Amino acid sequence: MALIVQKYGGTSVGSVDRILNVAQRIKKTCEAGNQVVAVVSAMGGVTDKLIGLANEINQNPAERELDVLLATGEQQSIALVSMALHSLGIDAVSCTGRQAGVVTIGSHTKGKIDKIEANYVKDNLNAGRVVIVAGFQGVREDGLIHTLGRGGSDLSAIAIAHAVGADLCQILTDVDGVYTCDPRVVKDAKKINTISYDEMLELASSGAKVMQSRSVEFASKYGVVFEVRSSLNDNPGTIVCAENDSMETVVIRGVSIERNQARITVTGIPDKPGNSAQIFTALSEAEVNVDMIVSNNTHEGLARHSFTVSDSDLAKALASIQGLLPDISSEAEVLTEAGMAKLSVVGIGMKSHSGVAAKMFDVLGKAGINIGLITTSEIKISVSLDAAKADLAANVIHEAFDLKS
Ligand code: ASP
Ligand code: MG
Repeated sequence: MALIVQKYGGTSVGSVDRILNVAQRIKKTCEAGNQVVAVVSAMGGVTDKLIGLANEINQNPAERELDVLLATGEQQSIALVSMALHSLGIDAVSCTGRQAGVVTIGSHTKGKIDKIEANYVKDNLNAGRVVIVAGFQGVREDGLIHTLGRGGSDLSAIAIAHAVGADLCQILTDVDGVYTCDPRVVKDAKKINTISYDEMLELASSGAKVMQSRSVEFASKYGVVFEVRSSLNDNPGTIVCAENDSMETVVIRGVSIERNQARITVTGIPDKPGNSAQIFTALSEAEVNVDMIVSNNTHEGLARHSFTVSDSDLAKALASIQGLLPDISSEAEVLTEAGMAKLSVVGIGMKSHSGVAAKMFDVLGKAGINIGLITTSEIKISVSLDAAKADLAANVIHEAFDLKS
């Protein structure tokens, strides 16, 4: 008998029919001889609706009350899923975050899981029940209700799988798994069977958002192996686990695109300590998230910094830098270019294969695609390029690295 934690997201419990479908899946898993803990999200759209309501009532709602309000979304789902199981003759109980022993720390609406005291969950499993746990919520030591940040049910599921010592954690969602590229962009993109935590994180940070990154980091830290699969069919999904030697035989695991990027270049910066700090401090004070950063000394002691920000932050970023320029130097100038995208190739195989960057740039060059900035990590190469060329770039790279086979 295996103990399986299944997480059902908002889409998977988004309607009466979907909830009945979830109950059928849980029933099937039980009938195959397994114990099941199901962690569920609020029905799709409910959390957004609750936030909307709060903002209609008060433009600046207290976060303590937001937590109380938002936690009700998941509370509806657990009761409904439990009732659906009862109607199928399955013994099931719902559990709020508090009942599941999810103890959190941190500020309201941004809770972090500190520990899980899962006795109540375990007792119910031992009594032969299915346990349905509310994702996205916990309770602080002082007893206040806490939510874990948007998309936080993934984290709840991974942490509960760890706490109960599950044999398997399944993240059931509306996609079949993690793909070599977005299938809407590359039509022969392929579902990846196994991917390492690090690759999954790098893909997510470059735009392929299947799951909340924080939950992948948690899984990596505690070695929780999980599978991302569809709640709407029985296709096997993608297993996410620690890297092993055989994974390195594949050079590139996937390609991802992040759109709506802009490039900012500041030139004529005197090459002396503190100037970079001044620029990036101003950006951080303006709450601009900076992504790729490339710097270079040009000539005569002047440096140039180029970096990317999201298109929506461009005006803010530009204003904060322009305010600084007179302080920096009379020769300093700032140039911007909107309408860019970031394309990344990710794979731990890069550690043991040389020439990946050369091949990537060659393929892009031959397709007539100009590369802007380039940044790399041990397992990722990212380039910025004209957004209009991003789909073509993804397709030629997918083909060149033979990701479809
Ligand atoms: N219901 C929460 C949200 O929409 C948590 C989740 O779905 O994971 O963000
Ligand atoms: Mg969700």
